[in-house]
Amino acid sequence: MSKIITLTLSPRESADLELCASLAAQRAGVRREDVALARVVKRSIDARRAPVKVNISIEIFEDNEPQPAPIHFDYPDVSHSTEVVVVGSGPAGLFAALRLIELGYRPILLERGKEVLPRKQDIALINRNQDIDPDSNYAFGAGGAGTFSDGKLFTRSKKRGDYNKALQALVFHGAAEEILYEAHPHIGTDRLPRIISNICKTITDAGGVIRFSSRVSGFIVREGRICGVEVGDERIEGAAVVLATGHSAKDIYHTLHRDGIRLEAKAFAMGVRIEHPQRLIDSIQYHLPERGEYLPAAAYTLVNQIEGRGVYSFCMCPGGFIVPAMTDARQSVVNGMSPSQRNSRWANSGLVTEIRVEDFAHLEEQYGPLAGLVFQQQLEEAARLNGGDRQIAPAQRVSDFVAGRASTSLPSTSYLPGLCSSRLDRWMPAFMASALRKGIASFDRKMRGYVTHDAIVVGVESRTSTPVRIPRDKDTLMHPEVKGLFPTGEGAGYAGGIISAALDGERIANAIAEYIGK
Ligand SMILES: Cc1cc2nc3c(=O)[nH]c(=O)nc-3n(C[C@H](O)[C@H](O)[C@H](O)COP(=O)(O)OP(=O)(O)OC[C@H]3O[C@@H](n4cnc5c(N)ncnc54)[C@H](O)[C@@H]3O)c2cc1C
Repeated sequence: MSKIITLTLSPRESADLELCASLAAQRAGVRREDVALARVVKRSIDARRAPVKVNISIEIFEDNEPQPAPIHFDYPDVSHSTEVVVVGSGPAGLFAALRLIELGYRPILLERGKEVLPRKQDIALINRNQDIDPDSNYAFGAGGAGTFSDGKLFTRSKKRGDYNKALQALVFHGAAEEILYEAHPHIGTDRLPRIISNICKTITDAGGVIRFSSRVSGFIVREGRICGVEVGDERIEGAAVVLATGHSAKDIYHTLHRDGIRLEAKAFAMGVRIEHPQRLIDSIQYHLPERGEYLPAAAYTLVNQIEGRGVYSFCMCPGGFIVPAMTDARQSVVNGMSPSQRNSRWANSGLVTEIRVEDFAHLEEQYGPLAGLVFQQQLEEAARLNGGDRQIAPAQRVSDFVAGRASTSLPSTSYLPGLCSSRLDRWMPAFMASALRKGIASFDRKMRGYVTHDAIVVGVESRTSTPVRIPRDKDTLMHPEVKGLFPTGEGAGYAGGIISAALDGERIANAIAEYIGK
């Protein structure tokens, strides 16, 4: 049987895989020449105190021991099988489609945006401050919001599905094997598009259908059962409908509400994106003036309770870029991404505070369950009005934001469309500005130097999670009043992040098999 040996090494030693294999063999009492395979199965960085250490677990297989099989998935031909409509090609929609194929169903996947390559071109235009295509941007298009992202793959919802299988499916479609053993795996925006294209190819090779530039604009419901959807004048029918439209598709919530399909308001979070020089974050986290060549760009996670309200960092992107993630020209919305090497000069993170249903209760009478969506839109529009032309975003130095004064200049930034100085606290709801200001000040006590003249806050980080839940029955996972309608992923309120959306998509496909089977 193979043996797993855990070593605690310096970053430099841990980068030498031959050294790791020899040390592990020695520790296991096996001669190095008798080791047929030594592979890393876990790696994490311990930066709690200086010097930084790396914990690395090596699995040793001796000669004549069975070695692990290569990762492989079989997708049967489903060209003539029962059809299921899947709306949205984000992680939830794609993984629902893959699982439907495994279960013998034919997904008909409808995506409002474009394929990876033309989408990439539209995104380049957004970064050059050209017009935003409302169907092709950072949120909409092949792979959904996950394609041009950091591609962090960790999740708190591992128990909701087969986490390892999801990672293996990504490796099967072209992700590096490292994601299987890193404590905080990520793919990077330079590698994600190819993986998404490969997944799309698997779906169509198996006989599934993917239609891009197909925005669903209505639902066909007869006697409490959904039979299909409308794309313009066309009707597309299926045995069930997976609704995986993500949380930026505000129009879908309006369509559901218009059609009398029940929705619920829910708490969410909003705030700003904060950007520091990566060198500063490295020096704070690694207790070193320079991180050197063997440590990755440092990350952080911060959380505190301010006046009974959670304030926390969200989707931190070491060595990354702030990106314009709005879906139409009336909004200023920012998010973050990084390449696989995480080698930009900046570290950015969402810095958000809880938004409770009571915070937008004043909008409830007029907008019902969409009140949170309106509250979110108001903040996004206020940020737009206080920004510059097109995607130029409002920003303030962190030290000025905490002190409550305007910034007379702004430092260099990774945000390509550009920034303009604005007092964010002047146009944000007062409770948000206060919670964020106190939260950021408190983080400086955990990470000395976090509040600095060299860092900025940029407006606004408003799409952390959805303000609207599409309800589903806890046993059947269907909408309680519309048979055959399976809401999933982040837009439905059941996931937050790439992996949790993918796991929820798989779960929904399993539920559909039970529904159709019955
Ligand atoms: C810049 C950025 C960076 C991110 N970084 C990370 C990260 O590092 N790690 C992480 O875990 N998460 C990250 N996220 C969040 C992550 O991308 C989402 O949590 C995840 O993509 C949600 O998956 P989903 O399938 O539920 O929805 P989405 O990915 O939002 O996909 C929804 C899809 O539905 C389509 N659609 C919408 N309306 C319609 C319609 N009417 N008809 C047809 N199609 C429609 C959209 O075009 C879209 O492709 C990031 C997000 C952004 C924007």
